[in-house]
Amino acid sequence: MPQTYTHHFDTPLFKKDVVINTGLFINNEFVDAADPTPIEVVDPTTGKVVTSVQGATKADVDRAVEAAQKAYSTVWGLKTPGTERARLLNKLADLWEAHMDELAAIEALDGGKQFLQAKTFDLTNGLNTLRYYAGFADKVFGKTIETDPTKFVYTLHEPIGVVGAIIPWNFPLMIMAWKLGPALATGNCVVLKPSEVTPLGALKVAELVRLAGFPPGVVSVLPGLGRSAGQALIEHGAVGKVSFTGSVATGRRILAASGAGNLKRVTLELGGKSPNIVFDDADVEQAIKWTAMGIFGHAGQMCSASSRIYVQEGVYDVFMQHMVAFAKSMTAGSGFDQDMTKIDPVASQAQYDRVLGYIQSGQKEGATVLTGGAPLGNTGFFLQPTLFGDVRADMQIVREEIFGPVGVVVKFKDEAEVVKLANSSEYGLVACVYTQDLARTTRLARELEAGSVYVNQMAIPDWRVPFGGYKLSGIGKDLGEYALEGFTNVKAVHVNIGQRL
Ligand code: NAD
Repeated sequence: MPQTYTHHFDTPLFKKDVVINTGLFINNEFVDAADPTPIEVVDPTTGKVVTSVQGATKADVDRAVEAAQKAYSTVWGLKTPGTERARLLNKLADLWEAHMDELAAIEALDGGKQFLQAKTFDLTNGLNTLRYYAGFADKVFGKTIETDPTKFVYTLHEPIGVVGAIIPWNFPLMIMAWKLGPALATGNCVVLKPSEVTPLGALKVAELVRLAGFPPGVVSVLPGLGRSAGQALIEHGAVGKVSFTGSVATGRRILAASGAGNLKRVTLELGGKSPNIVFDDADVEQAIKWTAMGIFGHAGQMCSASSRIYVQEGVYDVFMQHMVAFAKSMTAGSGFDQDMTKIDPVASQAQYDRVLGYIQSGQKEGATVLTGGAPLGNTGFFLQPTLFGDVRADMQIVREEIFGPVGVVVKFKDEAEVVKLANSSEYGLVACVYTQDLARTTRLARELEAGSVYVNQMAIPDWRVPFGGYKLSGIGKDLGEYALEGFTNVKAVHVNIGQRL
């Protein structure tokens, strides 16, 4: 029998004992892993171990995929009308809504998020995503195509079958909803592997999947390491699609596994090094607030972080004066504080070391630390909000995704120069532009090489709008109607109604 772990939350914002299953969720049951290797779960605000969960290995992946195949061919897929899939997804959404506080507290516990932020952004976005795709479940259909009078031709949009979903640690439950929503609405079964850093929320949602009444096998949740459970999932011959959010390095492995195996369909939402461009004519006060949130929000652990900050020379001094003051005002503390000037910790010791390594590399390569550059507080994985100036395009801190509260700042002269700088990255996830000139926004929206362009705001994904990058930032789209295409096969049916040989 797998264990449970009870966490005693006793904070001003949330008081409750929350029980979390720490086994694997397969066939609507929590079961032991075949070869249970415990994975320690750490609270990043303290650096202390909270509990451990069982890590899945290849044998568990085989078992979950087999359960998914059985569910797909007997009770799910084409066997369940879209209206029923919508009902179940809506039920899951209702349960998600009823458990929002609990889920937000878990996100704060293993991900270091602020409870209020997790509730009002991550979980609300996830909830709306589930409801949005429930609405599509009975509206996934093909077209009739006019060819010639002796033919009746139409298309069917069919599920792929078994989908492997692999998610990261920065927005665990929101991204879980991004995968479950469109995959289940279109009739697929899902084997989901949460990040080893933040497995607890997904295990809680697994309970809600069972309560909602999804048939056994339709959704499995397998905590586990990337190199074992993750690798087994991406190599599995019966998995028809992998929907992945994470780093470029893992994205490449997924493409390689697909190429070496069954050529499974792949959606990759990867990293970014996104430009944030502030023109002289911007509402500077607003630009400062959005930019600060864009790079220091969730300690910069956002794929869409505003990590390359370009500021036009006329507003540079005032912009920087306020940015530095804001950075210096941020403090470390519990995710259950109400204080909005608090910075989150980074998610793990490994990430903490990695970000500090980038800060050292910036210093070594000759960049100037404008603010920050050191650990923050005495416990956990907190880092000072950091900005670098005097950077060159070839520096590691300018080229690579740091995934921490570290931005580089560059002064620019004119639009042509900044477009060139912005597009000089290998990444192309998002771009943010601050200006009051409408013609300029329209021009830049075309010229910037990014999957999303945000004008006068930081990047905030919306469930109704496609999200996904250009260049190294990925392949395919999450969210919006566009995401449905990634979870369906299109079949063309040709019916001869008169042509004779
Ligand atoms: P990661 O690639 O290290 O891990 C992501 C997931 O992949 C985890 O569940 C991990 O266990 C798994 N994994 C690792 N190796 C694997 C393998 N060989 N086979 C299969 N699965 C494997 O990324 P991370 O550090 O967890 O997340 C940070 C990255 O995610 C950043 O690069 C960030 O930009 C990106 N991200 C992108 C988006 C987006 O929508 N574009 C959103 C959030 C995060």
